[in-house]
Amino acid sequence: MAKEDAEPGTGRPRSLRFNSLFSDDELGEEQPEVSPADGSSSWSDRDPGPRPPAPDAFPGGSPGTLGDTMEGTGATAPLSPTIRAGWLDKNPPQGSYIYQKRWVKLDADYLRYFDSEKDAYSKRLIPVSSISRVTSVGDQKFEVITNNRNFVFRAESDAERNEWIQTLQQIAEERKSKAPERTLMSLATDGAPEPADKSGFLELRGFKHKLFVVVAGDKVFLYKNAEDYRLGIGITYIEMNVGNVKEVDRRGFDLTTPYRLFSFSADSEQEKEEWVEAMQQSIAEALSNSEVAERIWAVESNRCCADCGSPKPEWASINLCVVICKRCAGEHRGLGPGITKVRSLKMDRKVWTEELIKLFQQFGNAMANEFWAANVPPSEAIGPTSGSQERRRFLIAKYREGKYRHYHPLFGNQEELDRALCVAVTTSDLKETQALLFCGASVTCDTGDSQCPTPLALAERSGQRLQMEFLLHNKTSELPRLEMLGSEEKPYSVPLPSVTHSGFLYKTPSMAKPVSERKGLEEFSRRWCTLQDGVLSYYENDRNAVPNGEIRVEEIVCLVNNPPHTHGIESTFEVYTEAERLYLFGLESSDSTREWLKSIAKSFVHPCAEELLALDFERLGRLHYKGGLTLERTQEGWFALAGSTLHVCSEDGQRQEPLQLRKLQELSIQGEHEVLVLVERRRTLYIQGERKLDFLGWVHAIQKAAGSSGDTLSEQQLTESDVPLLVDRCIDYITQCGLTSEGIYRKSGQNSKTTSLLEVLQRDARRVRLKEGEHHVDDVANTLKRFFRDLGDGLFTRQWAPDWLWATALEDEEAKVSEYRQLLGALPPVNRATLKALINHLFRVQCFSGENQMNTHNLAIVFGPTLFQTDGKDYKAGRVVEDLINHYVKIFNVNDQEMKKQQDEIMAIMKMREASSSGMQQAGDFICTVYLEEKKTETEQHVKIPATMTAEELTFEILDRRKIVMKEKDYWSCFEVNEREEAERPLHYSEKVLPILHCLGTESYLVVKKQMSMENMLIYLASRVGDCKHGMMKFREERNLLGLGLSTGFHDRYFILNHSCLRLYKEVRSLRQRSPPLESSHKPEKEWPVRNLKVYLGVKKKLRPPTCWGFTVFYENEKHEKQQWYLCCDTQADLREWFATFLQVQNGGALWPSERPRTRAARPQQDARLGNISLIPLRGNESEMRNSVAAFATDPLTLLRNV
Ligand SMILES: [Zn+2]
Repeated sequence: MAKEDAEPGTGRPRSLRFNSLFSDDELGEEQPEVSPADGSSSWSDRDPGPRPPAPDAFPGGSPGTLGDTMEGTGATAPLSPTIRAGWLDKNPPQGSYIYQKRWVKLDADYLRYFDSEKDAYSKRLIPVSSISRVTSVGDQKFEVITNNRNFVFRAESDAERNEWIQTLQQIAEERKSKAPERTLMSLATDGAPEPADKSGFLELRGFKHKLFVVVAGDKVFLYKNAEDYRLGIGITYIEMNVGNVKEVDRRGFDLTTPYRLFSFSADSEQEKEEWVEAMQQSIAEALSNSEVAERIWAVESNRCCADCGSPKPEWASINLCVVICKRCAGEHRGLGPGITKVRSLKMDRKVWTEELIKLFQQFGNAMANEFWAANVPPSEAIGPTSGSQERRRFLIAKYREGKYRHYHPLFGNQEELDRALCVAVTTSDLKETQALLFCGASVTCDTGDSQCPTPLALAERSGQRLQMEFLLHNKTSELPRLEMLGSEEKPYSVPLPSVTHSGFLYKTPSMAKPVSERKGLEEFSRRWCTLQDGVLSYYENDRNAVPNGEIRVEEIVCLVNNPPHTHGIESTFEVYTEAERLYLFGLESSDSTREWLKSIAKSFVHPCAEELLALDFERLGRLHYKGGLTLERTQEGWFALAGSTLHVCSEDGQRQEPLQLRKLQELSIQGEHEVLVLVERRRTLYIQGERKLDFLGWVHAIQKAAGSSGDTLSEQQLTESDVPLLVDRCIDYITQCGLTSEGIYRKSGQNSKTTSLLEVLQRDARRVRLKEGEHHVDDVANTLKRFFRDLGDGLFTRQWAPDWLWATALEDEEAKVSEYRQLLGALPPVNRATLKALINHLFRVQCFSGENQMNTHNLAIVFGPTLFQTDGKDYKAGRVVEDLINHYVKIFNVNDQEMKKQQDEIMAIMKMREASSSGMQQAGDFICTVYLEEKKTETEQHVKIPATMTAEELTFEILDRRKIVMKEKDYWSCFEVNEREEAERPLHYSEKVLPILHCLGTESYLVVKKQMSMENMLIYLASRVGDCKHGMMKFREERNLLGLGLSTGFHDRYFILNHSCLRLYKEVRSLRQRSPPLESSHKPEKEWPVRNLKVYLGVKKKLRPPTCWGFTVFYENEKHEKQQWYLCCDTQADLREWFATFLQVQNGGALWPSERPRTRAARPQQDARLGNISLIPLRGNESEMRNSVAAFATDPLTLLRNV
């Protein structure tokens, strides 16, 4: 095949030899060649073209010299089969009489001719679609007429000529009748080719003139010039499925195929990069679809998933060199790219280079599994039907931990491993390289060879392309290692969707600090920005190819939409990255900003949280947080702040009930600005400040959103029942301290104090604690009035206020009340709730009119004009208030129970105030409702609870009131009952009641009743040795407070309870063998200090406990992080024993006083240190309880807990 003889005598440099196939000599021949034989040239006027060199400048023998580089003619798999091929004479170029023999090939798309039948690349291609006619021109000749040029061929015989004509005509006809899309290069009606991926002039080594090169789909076309491109008449095309592109120097790059090397040179470095990129894309496209898969499946072991054995696996891990099924691929992805780089055989076009395919053919599943799956116990192996949990477990063990791998003999000896790797890469022994690499050899180890400092360089020098490929893909691979902790808890990553967006944005330099001041327009620079393939790039302008900078979307942690005009440009947004950088972008229109925000958000937000994208968010990002039972484990979640609502999606894709920030009961920062604590009814969320920059932004934004945003009712911080916190705080305070104060609400208080109090309450009512002694009741009363008077839109709203006033004129009381009720229904919910709370309060105030002199009428005089924001000259407004108070029960639908409760409370307050004024009352006493035996109105007792009162004393107090005498073995105790949890806890006799009272939620109450199991518990404790208990219980975690957590149902677990800790073990079997188990030899799965546990008897039915002998356990650590879980025992005796042990351990000994006085203990003298503390709401909501707890915690009274 060698045509070395073609060169001698030509004097041309050897390098040109490769280009001779369609070098200038061929181009030179074109113009004469396309000149019609009859001399009627229709194109030459239009296309003067470059002057062709004289044909004799090149020897005639040069064509076909590429043969020596070809690996057989059939190597290229033609996209469309050849319809007809044969030798024909082509009419000679101008100035020559010698016909040139050409190998002519016709397929459905092109008529091409070649120097020889072995050539891969034509000298000329004529798209079939451009052929308008084919005619016979005598002398066995025929003419192919295109829209623009004619080509004359001569056959050996008339018969052959006629066959060619017939075939060509037929194909051209067929083409015309078919859709033009059949080929990538098909011509549109005006003759212009369809748009190319990239086109332009390039120098090709061996050609004098630049060629017009077009990258289109999976082919690269070469044209003599742009006009030819327009006409569709090309030189040749290169099928990129066999192409490989490599950059050579600043402007040069090579396109290598098995048949030929094309050395291109672009005008600039930037241009070059674009060409390389375009050609690589083209290669990827060519290699797409099943071709890669078919080639890789050609190796038998690759036809089944390397991990589970499923047939026809269409995915691969390109660093592990395994072909895997879709389901395993999903789990592979979860291991992270450091362990396995997952790509599709059919879709990830870019990645499948010839080298990589070869690597997979040589390597493949067989060789990979000889290493990775050398020791898989049959019990751990997975199959095509295995579930995703099983798969994950197996894949973690296989690849992350390397549990089943075949250890290299040098394992553990780093130096030796590295040395061996340096040797292995210079050979074709890929298996050895694999074993070394995944047993600890370093890809980047020092080879000791200054010329080839890395194993990769060594492999290159040795020409080991596949070794190079393998090393390259494992450049950043992590070493497999066994991990002690549950590796399932490692972050689980999922590929992000690819989003494309581009346009001009204004941008400031990135910052490491929050943007604290307004940026002027001059501080922004206009930049062309693109979001593509997971990278947000910004360029000097839209013509630049090299970006000034980039942000990878995986690094984005937060996106913020600033309010309009925050800076000197209409609309701005911020992008925060993992590396604690802040990028500020600006735009002239907020609509475009929104588009950018949506696009960026879509590109970086985990698909599991994609619902958040639909929100009109102000801030969106990922944060680490803890909630409920997962307190031991921080998880990553997606957060979006929209208005005063915080939306949360957990990493496992569960969307939570959004948090209403204005209704938070607590919002605080713990630690050194490390944790933001959000307490909402029934749930607590701890957001962790893992990174400072975006976390601070979140803190400020959440704080702001949790505050009042305006002067209307609905913009205030609210209680659970939709009453502004400010109103609630004031009413509570007056109720506790001002009901009997003369002239309450009529006296004006001090103006300056009122102003400042209103200000702090409006800023953040959540943090304000009104204290007796610190705040005068008249100041507070005035604050409340001022709030209503200044309220935007008023309590009755502008829209409805006139109707309320009008209703006062109704003479028929019934009709009037009915009208009020209707009007009440028309108010917005917050207004309605607030009005009810206020009237309820005023109703109470007038109950004390004997002392405070404020009867209904007096109150109405004050509140009418205040609420209607009138001057008070007209009594209509007052009339409304008076009516509302008088008909309070009817208008607000207050039922008997509510009414009774109110009255009781009023009575209790009155009694207390009396006692207080007579000096009998100890300040600091709390009043509490305690039931006897069961919760019923008849059994209700209101008891003053001094700080020192114990559960035993409270029990006696109640029994005493009911004249019940405690008999021997009656074991009367005080229980804390949690209605929501359907669980109860007997208080230890020595426990102080007051702290418990403070912690009681609204669903809990105290009841005094007999403790039926006490006798048996005492017997049990007396009969056993030591204070430790162990055994099986059924365990269930609460779906944590956020509604997260995976646990459902009860599971057998082994527990050990000793004097300090409760431990949970999962490995039941191994523990069971020993009795008692050796604690030290096993690490418990969970462990809790006993002092932080509160154990309740009972499990709520909703959870379907497996037995009726269960516990509900609450855990709260020093940081006030809470958890809750459930335990069930098999027998009642078991339950009793566990409970007795808990009680004994927690109380450090006796469950029952050994000697109990038969009658009520004398109330101990109150401690003088108690001092003054404010009254706590009797039946406040949870928020108030909490606040009082907080107040309690900071109160010196805490010291007395241990008294
Ligand atoms: Zn599989």
